[in-house]
Amino acid sequence: MFSSVAGRTVVVTGGTKGIGKGIARVFARSGANVVVVGRDPQVGAACADELTAAFAGQYEGQAGGTVVFVAADVASSAGNAEAAAAAVARFGGIDVLCANAGIFPDARLETMTEADMDAVFGTNLKGTMFSVQACLPHLAASGRGRVILTSSITGPITGFPGWSHYGASKAAQLGFMRTAAIELAGRGITVNAVLPGNIATEGLADLGAAYRATMEASIPMKRLGEVDDIGYAALFFATDQAAYITGQALVVDGGQVLPESLEAVS
Ligand code: NAP
Repeated sequence: MFSSVAGRTVVVTGGTKGIGKGIARVFARSGANVVVVGRDPQVGAACADELTAAFAGQYEGQAGGTVVFVAADVASSAGNAEAAAAAVARFGGIDVLCANAGIFPDARLETMTEADMDAVFGTNLKGTMFSVQACLPHLAASGRGRVILTSSITGPITGFPGWSHYGASKAAQLGFMRTAAIELAGRGITVNAVLPGNIATEGLADLGAAYRATMEASIPMKRLGEVDDIGYAALFFATDQAAYITGQALVVDGGQVLPESLEAVS
């Protein structure tokens, strides 16, 4: 049986919606206290209120399940420092960092600007590295520190037109992970990554039913993933039982990357 993360403190960057909110929900449901980080204060406060109302004090009578929002931009070192300081001020430390915040604007190579590249690398790669740096002393003090990155199948395994910068940033996260895992192992900190396939988030509806049906048809399990599917993979890496796993990438995609041709999924 997996041990509980009840009472531990978890920082989830980009935890106010989408996959990050799913990660925050799974940890709060498991009795952890969670700090969700994002830029939009209204969305962030609503997320924290919703999850706290659902889970605070609900885990087998133990304290935990409280979710608070901290407004910060992960693309800056200072923003991450503020978020880490706020987490420590509120809950007394940081045990788990889920570096999840990411953006995925569409731009083909012919028209992609330097600003497009800077924005994607600034949030997805530098944001990941800054957040680990900011939380590092507290993860070390925890004695069982965990870093869980949200990468993607796009970049490390697959490609998609318009996402060359995005895919490069998601593959770069894994390059960062492997050396960080070595550097931090001596302090008892593991660094792992979850690679989601196509996950149903709030923004999916904007793409239309036809888009969703096409995506579902390409997945052996014939459905998109749920945000909680990613949350439970992250939760596994945070357990005591995963303490000897570091520097690893876990694909959570319903088998999406497996077919070698369209025939294989028809
Ligand atoms: P989403 O629904 O757009 O949510 C993104 C989250 O990140 C929001 O909370 C957003 O809040 C926050 N965020 C974005 N830029 C930020 C910044 N500079 N500073 C602080 N917070 C920031 O995205 P998602 O689909 O859940 O994606 C989350 C992660 O999963 C990303 O790393 C993405 O690459 C990865 N992923 C997603 C899928 C998928 O199918 N959805 C598949 C593979 C991988 P604010 O806008 O308020 O800042």
